Amino acid sequence: MITDILYSGSVVSRLAASRFIHRQLAEKLRGQDSFMSEFTRLLQHAKAVNNHMAEMNLGALCIRCSAQPSGGCCSLYMAGETDGLQMLMNLLAGIDVQAVRDDGSECIFLGQSGCIFIFKPMFCLNYICSHIHQAASSAQIEELQRLTGVLLAKHFEVEQFLLGLIRREKGQFSILP
Ligand code: SF4
Repeated sequence: MITDILYSGSVVSRLAASRFIHRQLAEKLRGQDSFMSEFTRLLQHAKAVNNHMAEMNLGALCIRCSAQPSGGCCSLYMAGETDGLQMLMNLLAGIDVQAVRDDGSECIFLGQSGCIFIFKPMFCLNYICSHIHQAASSAQIEELQRLTGVLLAKHFEVEQFLLGLIRREKGQFSILP
């Protein structure tokens, strides 16, 4: 099934599939006003989460933690939580999705100032570790959870639309491995 290549296989092959589908569908999607207005709304929700995370200084906290010998949440293992559809949505948002590190310990998508994704894997968004709880106030955590809930609900809607489109247009993707 076409969707198998988005959710299984290596991270590199999922990224390759998302890039291929992006090349095939981006123009068509840009021409659909209803999709673009939903996608713009989704982007606004993602930016609200990212802004709040930046106010909480989570990028610096997570990088500092990942550099410790015991590792952190953004470990190489966690790169496996990414999927082709989530990467496709980041490509549609203009993110240059590519591995930004290869040190054998941290997630390959962890850049110098934090995660490169505007749309992160669901697990990455839902996980709030003890270091974050220590560094943030309960009001900040509650607001993060509220904003994340709104984002994930919208993310699911857009994801379902894209999956439907990919299934309908699957003939275009028959050359994929
Ligand atoms: S995808 Fe982003 S948030 Fe998730 S583990 Fe990788 S760098 Fe961290």
